[in-house]
Amino acid sequence: MPSPRQRPLSSLGEFGLIERLARRFGSVGGPTIVRGIGDDAAVVRSVPGRHLLASTDMLVEDVHFDLRYASLFDVGYRAAAANLSDIAAMGGFPEYVLMALAIPQVHTTHDIDQLYRGFMALCGKYHVRLIGGDTSSSPQGICLAVSILGHVAPHSTLRRDGAKVGDQLYLSGTVGDSLAGLLLIMGSEDRFDRSLADRASRHLIKRHLRPTPRLELAQLLAARHLASAAIDISDGLSSDLGHLCRNSKVGAVIHADALPISSACRSFALAAGKNPVELALQGGEDFELLFTVPQQARPSLDRLIQRHRLPLTRIGTIQDARQGLRVKFKDGSHRQMPKSGFDHFRQPAMTS
Ligand code: ADP
Ligand code: MG
Repeated sequence: MPSPRQRPLSSLGEFGLIERLARRFGSVGGPTIVRGIGDDAAVVRSVPGRHLLASTDMLVEDVHFDLRYASLFDVGYRAAAANLSDIAAMGGFPEYVLMALAIPQVHTTHDIDQLYRGFMALCGKYHVRLIGGDTSSSPQGICLAVSILGHVAPHSTLRRDGAKVGDQLYLSGTVGDSLAGLLLIMGSEDRFDRSLADRASRHLIKRHLRPTPRLELAQLLAARHLASAAIDISDGLSSDLGHLCRNSKVGAVIHADALPISSACRSFALAAGKNPVELALQGGEDFELLFTVPQQARPSLDRLIQRHRLPLTRIGTIQDARQGLRVKFKDGSHRQMPKSGFDHFRQPAMTS
């Protein structure tokens, strides 16, 4: 007799499963949720004077994750991180999530609980509540599509299209870690000696499997109107900078030496015979924030960085669109930014 945590999905059925999820992870009532899971649609109170933010992000087994390397808890956690990061990149406050899940019948109730536990672990940290979803069997592989709702003050919205020539480019945290972590767990770097750098490799793997969205930081920048444009790093710095610049109709130069690269990523690159600058430019899914700051806002930003010890690095400058996207090196030489980042229809599977 299987334990209740390990029951096959057929023993519960679709509706039994939804009831279980609603009971364990769903949100009902409170001042804002008029109707949670259980009706044809959730009903939430809207707040006058605020803009509603809505976004969806999908994770597909063997495209975005591989269950040989990631646990279902990790998968749920990352689904939450990717969605929360999109709200962060708008300068917004996340409020509600809906989870559409397609799952093969070989999985058990325990597997689904683990997925939702990981998902709610990060959502709960930001008081984001589960108010609905959809459930389907899947002939092959898990697919989860998360929708997120949030709000933003109309005049504080961070957009991709506000960068102007002369604005400075800033990046939060470090970039390249997630890709290094992915390469590590996929074991494709057989020259990398895990026993030599255990703490560093654990750090990189965690950065890949359990990324942190930059919500507080983005909210701070948005409230103070310090950023003229922003985007989160999901496809990779070079690719996401490309999105920001195309939307803003500008170009940019990035200083290779200024790129914030963790010591863990550097030692990985060294051991694996890779260029850390390439990892930083091309690695996706760091969920850091890339944003532009007008010259006149820089003193306020500097004060904010000092007061809150913000992990921000100035990495370059916005230029005229005719300059394109360039990387500048210590010796003064320039080169065009490599065209990179993940494109689902142009590359083999297994990354962002
Ligand atoms: P419908 O047939 O109208 O789509 P469902 O039976 O799919 O209704 O869903 C019933 C309720 O359960 C709805 O409130 C829906 O949002 C919620 N729900 C369904 N699947 C999930 C899920 N995987 N996670 C969270 N909520 C879900
Ligand atoms: Mg449905």
